Amino acid sequence: PPTSFAEHLKRLGQSTEAGRKMVVVTRRPEVEESRLLLPIVTEEQPIVETILLNTVVVICGETGSGKTTQVPQFLFEAGFGSPDSDNPGMIGITQPRRVAAMSMASRVAQELSLPSSRVSYQIRYDATVSPSTSIKFMTDGVLLRELASDFLLSKYSVLIIDEAHERSMNTDILIGVLSRVVKLRESLWREPLRIVIMSATLRISDFVENPTLFATPPPVIKVPARQHPVTVHFNRRTLSDYVGEAIRKASKIHARLPPGGILIFLTGQNEISGVCRRLEERYGAQSLAERRKRRKGTQVGLDAQRFFRNDGDHDTVVDFEAEEMDLGGGSGDDLAFDVEDGLKDEKDVDMDALDTDDEAQGEDQALVPMHILPLYSLLPTEKQMKVFEPSPAGTRLVVVATNVAETSLTIPGIRYVIDCGRAKERRYNLADGIQSFQISWISKASAAQRAGRAGRTGPGHCYRLYSSAVFENYFEQFSQPEILRVPIEGVVLQMKCMHIDSVANFPFPTPPDRQSLRQAEKMLTYLGALETPSITTSCNAAGGAVTDVGRTMSLFPLSPRFSKMLVSSRDPFLREEALGVEERSGGDEDLAHISGEKVQSEESSKLRRREYFRSQQCHASLGNSTSDLFRMLSVVGAYEYAGGGRSFCTEHFVMPKAMEEIHKLRAQISDIVRAHFPDADAGFTPKIPPPQDFQLRVLRQLITSCFVDQVAVRKDLVEKDSATGVQRTTAKRVAYRALGVSEDVYIHPSSVLATTSPPEYVVYHEVVRTSQVWLKGLTLINPAWLPALGKSLCTFSKPFKNKAGDMMATPKFGPDGWELPPVRADNQQ
Ligand code: ADP
Ligand code: MG
Repeated sequence: PPTSFAEHLKRLGQSTEAGRKMVVVTRRPEVEESRLLLPIVTEEQPIVETILLNTVVVICGETGSGKTTQVPQFLFEAGFGSPDSDNPGMIGITQPRRVAAMSMASRVAQELSLPSSRVSYQIRYDATVSPSTSIKFMTDGVLLRELASDFLLSKYSVLIIDEAHERSMNTDILIGVLSRVVKLRESLWREPLRIVIMSATLRISDFVENPTLFATPPPVIKVPARQHPVTVHFNRRTLSDYVGEAIRKASKIHARLPPGGILIFLTGQNEISGVCRRLEERYGAQSLAERRKRRKGTQVGLDAQRFFRNDGDHDTVVDFEAEEMDLGGGSGDDLAFDVEDGLKDEKDVDMDALDTDDEAQGEDQALVPMHILPLYSLLPTEKQMKVFEPSPAGTRLVVVATNVAETSLTIPGIRYVIDCGRAKERRYNLADGIQSFQISWISKASAAQRAGRAGRTGPGHCYRLYSSAVFENYFEQFSQPEILRVPIEGVVLQMKCMHIDSVANFPFPTPPDRQSLRQAEKMLTYLGALETPSITTSCNAAGGAVTDVGRTMSLFPLSPRFSKMLVSSRDPFLREEALGVEERSGGDEDLAHISGEKVQSEESSKLRRREYFRSQQCHASLGNSTSDLFRMLSVVGAYEYAGGGRSFCTEHFVMPKAMEEIHKLRAQISDIVRAHFPDADAGFTPKIPPPQDFQLRVLRQLITSCFVDQVAVRKDLVEKDSATGVQRTTAKRVAYRALGVSEDVYIHPSSVLATTSPPEYVVYHEVVRTSQVWLKGLTLINPAWLPALGKSLCTFSKPFKNKAGDMMATPKFGPDGWELPPVRADNQQ
């Protein structure tokens, strides 16, 4: 057998060159040491060999086995990404989450002792990429966009599609497109493109045994897991208050079980912040120290009393003891937070038992403090990275996370996992576009992943806050691919721009629902991004080809409606304004967070009701009460006028990270505008001048043209007999009819239009179901605009003469035929 890897490569005939040109890297000794513990490192040889001999390879390995950090390094050492090698193109690695793209790039750079200009990342708002980049981490969305302008991906020699098991929509589509790009590169270029699909689970049949994707199944390399046993404990009961239960479990583990980090999975930022705060109050270094000091003080006082009352008044002594017990249990504080969270009834015996246990252990053996860290995607990057730093000596690490920690990031030193079994998911009803954020059960596969996090460093324990019956009866085997759950107009447009005209025939790992495909094409046609399909094409459901407008729209990293808004704003001033409005758009994972209320600071959710309303007023006062999008615009405008900064954010109840991202996004979009619109002005002005009234009106028309299929009208206007209570002074209780939604809908209380008298016609950005169906992101419109802006949705009556002798026609809008004000007949063309 070959004695070295290089020798092995030399014996491989075809890849001798690669063997000779291997890149020598220097790693610091401690890096080398920790690398050698990763199971994937022993597989370096077969992995590189298989990749060199095949264009498509699948690698499966447990989370934490070293796939993301090591495979790029293997390839780098084998010569990929080095200018003078056989494979000079970059090594690209895609991630579904940008947290992972950024942190993995910095980790790999660190391991290779290379600067961030060599091992770089690119996400939507930010990049460290340079001409000398060899390894590039990026989100899957970034690579999809690159495909639209460079279908051969000529900059890359190998692409690693990471976390394929998550089945994010972008990843699925990338795999479909890349299966074709590989063939093209083979026939058009000397240098082949290699694809590595990496998965943390063995559920890969959608990729491997899928003849429409790969005619011959690609080889699969399984990295042996070095997983320690994890004991799974189910709760006997499934409490609905899983947040309180998580705190109780963490307290118990902390008090009773040997050292080792605790990882708690919850569903969202608010829950996470709450749990962190409460654990900090109980077990943070500072509060423990204070409590101990108070306890000690009492003890001294007690002794003094005893000393002075030598003759003994037992009653008094008993009283003092009672007081001491109170302090020990910290019941004063606990009561306060229990009442606040409605937890008082739930405060169970276990917690009391814990407190007395704690007491019984005596002060010498008192608890070590907890080192508590939150982890979720909107958390500032430097705070996210804290989970990788060693926790202070003499503390126990406690990480409270969303499912970011499920597979993308491996947190070192975790021995106990507390799994609430739920995750927050955005769901769309494909029929009417109503979306809801639902907290629903995770899949059995996800539960197994979460449990696995406890077995990285040694045997571990996973506490599931649900019963085994719930697990058996309600958990799906695997979670559904994203493409089956979300609207797909953005990717349909991108695919059309890649000349994939018949999206229905695209080699999807899992094909999307036909109906959502048709809906996406319909919407893109309304927006003018696709040609109106001719009779023949609409029969075979191929849809129209992309128009020039559509192609320009695809240049922007925004959802189609918002790119349309940019493309249609010819006036440079308007474009600047539109840039401000953009940021409400939803698209990839991260964008969704920037929508309206999310921009409000995390703190604002904790504020008292009155302060919340003050924040609402504050945002409203910055703008104008005709559109929620203007509120966004004014917040952005005010932020930029103030020159950014955290104090502005605190004062105006907005999240600093969201604002910084919006600012970067604006600059980026502005660059695109400048590059592609020769008539554009100097481009990005960091300060938007406050718009004037006529400009706001034009802007509203612009918004209308991009949301023309999302019109809602006050119910009493279309259903004459309906008693919708227009007499009320505010709009939020008045029922509306929305195009394509069969139920009554209402204006969301957070809208600026909820406080005005009920408007007649609005366009909306989102329909959200909570207790009832709400319209969000509203803009007041004049129905007279609809015949011009939404011509394809209008039918016109026979022309008639009005009193002045003009030829008029009455347009009806939408399939329900809402009657609009008459327009001049010669206008209708
Ligand atoms: P996989 O992709 O197979 O899940 P990774 O390559 O992400 O595995 O992780 C391998 C190891 O590297 C893990 O033990 C993880 O804790 C460690 N690691 C990853 N990123 C960092 C970092 N920024 N700092 C310290 N350790 C890290
Ligand atoms: Mg990974």
